[in-house]
Amino acid sequence: MTLVEAKKRVEDLRQTLEHHRHLYHALDAPVISDEVYDSLMRELDALEKKYPELDSPASPTHRVGGEPLPHFEKVTHEIKQWSFDNVFSYDELCAWEERNVTLLTKEKISDKPTYVAELKIDGLKVVLTYKDGIFVRGATRGNGEVGEDITENIKTVKTIPLFLSKKYSMTVIGEAWMKKEDLERINKERKREELPLYANTRNLTAGTLRQLDSKVVAKRNIQIFAYDIEGLNLTSQQDELELLEQEGFLVNKDRKFCQHVKDVQTFYEHWTNKRFNQNYGIDGLVIKINERKLWDVLGHTAKSPRAGIAYKFPAEEVTTKLVAITLQVGRTGAVTPVAELEPVLVAGSNVKRATLHNMDEIKRLDVRIGDTVSLRKAGDVIPEIFDVVLTLRPKNAKAFVMPKLCPECHSTLVKEVVGKEESSAWYCKNKDCPAKHLENLIHFASKKGMYIEELGDKTIETFHDLGLITDRASMFKLKKEDIEGLDGFGEKSAENIIASINKARTVPLSRFLFALGIRHVGEQTAKDIAKHFGTFELLQKATLEEIIAVGGVGEKVGASLYEYLHDPYSQKIVTDLQKEINILDEKKKTGGALSGITFVITGTLPTLSRDEAKKIIEDNGGKVSSSVSSKTNYLVAGEEAGSKLTNAQNLGVKIITEQGLTELVKR
Ligand code: ZN
Repeated sequence: MTLVEAKKRVEDLRQTLEHHRHLYHALDAPVISDEVYDSLMRELDALEKKYPELDSPASPTHRVGGEPLPHFEKVTHEIKQWSFDNVFSYDELCAWEERNVTLLTKEKISDKPTYVAELKIDGLKVVLTYKDGIFVRGATRGNGEVGEDITENIKTVKTIPLFLSKKYSMTVIGEAWMKKEDLERINKERKREELPLYANTRNLTAGTLRQLDSKVVAKRNIQIFAYDIEGLNLTSQQDELELLEQEGFLVNKDRKFCQHVKDVQTFYEHWTNKRFNQNYGIDGLVIKINERKLWDVLGHTAKSPRAGIAYKFPAEEVTTKLVAITLQVGRTGAVTPVAELEPVLVAGSNVKRATLHNMDEIKRLDVRIGDTVSLRKAGDVIPEIFDVVLTLRPKNAKAFVMPKLCPECHSTLVKEVVGKEESSAWYCKNKDCPAKHLENLIHFASKKGMYIEELGDKTIETFHDLGLITDRASMFKLKKEDIEGLDGFGEKSAENIIASINKARTVPLSRFLFALGIRHVGEQTAKDIAKHFGTFELLQKATLEEIIAVGGVGEKVGASLYEYLHDPYSQKIVTDLQKEINILDEKKKTGGALSGITFVITGTLPTLSRDEAKKIIEDNGGKVSSSVSSKTNYLVAGEEAGSKLTNAQNLGVKIITEQGLTELVKR
């Protein structure tokens, strides 16, 4: 990025951030999430650090909190209310400790700091002043120097004392918050009254404490966790927390004294997983050096005290730049647009690509090349773009156009038609398309397929590019000397690969069927089919009707499988493979103790569920039908059996219990 480009970006970011800050703080109506906002702020901060000449006192990075609203009296804090710096990883946490230890060593202090780790509650910071043991003033933090006087509102909070046991004159710092269930309840009421809803508990807390009518506040069930004392000169953070507890403040019990940052890390990991279980929002931990005397020695940076740090949880939502849209051809021939991103950390892992699914999705998002996009992990695994920051769109942003031809084999792309519906994806229908080829090969060797353990995605790709693997059967023709000496492959790894190929030469029918990658034939279908037909030869002879008749196989799946088995191209793949591998017959259901016997199950059985009973019958070769007829041999009846029992009695069908069934199996 050139300085000119950086300057433009910095200006755009500042305007965008100001716009959203206004929506959030002044209007209480945010349109982007806090995390997306924070992500943009981090980018601005990084640019200002990289190009100090672009820094400006008016930049939002210098605004530590919201300006006081005009309605409330302004309050100048006796002691400046700093906010802590952030770290996002264990490495950064260790670096923070190291910097402190270096500074302490310089001052000839050899005491090693210990730490108190507390949950960082996602609420609103409040400053509570006590004079001679009496609560005299409550204020918001505001910009750190000047806040708003919200004394009347704070007085309604039941978790803080209005009198202390001794005539302490001190300032107590706390975090005001609200329970998630209160947010739900209040939003429900607001919905009925057609008022705008609160986005999260933090907004609700802020909105509530800035109510001019304290009677409204009193009804809202605001909580305050107290966590710091100023003005008493206690010796440690632990002492402060204990005194607060003794004086009747609500202090969060979930805190930990730590000898080392290593222990902090354990506590952090524990809470990273558990944070959503609390009835309040937590966005990280606050780590404070326990020894107060070290705080004075360490002092402050321009923005924050050095002796404490906020250790934020991994961001679930971030922003980054979309630099290109490429196409990926999948195993089925579906052509998927993929966003190529400037690498960014999401929920703890580095992301540089995200699927855009199809053209409909690209249109829905209105995403263009060059855009700044909001990204999150869907279900914590796959990165997903869910929004575009339109105010940051550059003039030369380019709309993506789906090409007419397959990027790999240049055959014409088509849409699939299922019934009356046209697919949203475009497909490459060329059976020889090299991209489909590679994806198919990877699927073939994968864990649920042939499970050639040592042939992972990357290795197959490499061997495919080198022409060592051309089709599925060629995998089994690989020799040690083909591999040994290739870049990154020594003798040992060549031996391992050959060994794992040989191990995969014997495969159960179900896994073989799945490995072939037949359209719509998933893992379970492959199992059902294999169990039903037992051998590959019998499956090949089956009619379309016979395949569809297998339980769990529908028409679409059956047709696809039948077509595959009778297509000359696929037949050649299978014949070539059969020369290399041994397909194990699957144990068939017929021939068991219950072979040829039809059952109906009704009522509640004493120990087995219906599905378990069904499985026992089928595993032993029997059949389970859903209704009683003259062909039914046995009715397995449990408690509260209804009309089926009457039917069976009328038809003279034998009626047995669960125990009767188990005895039949043992016969
Ligand atoms: Zn193609």
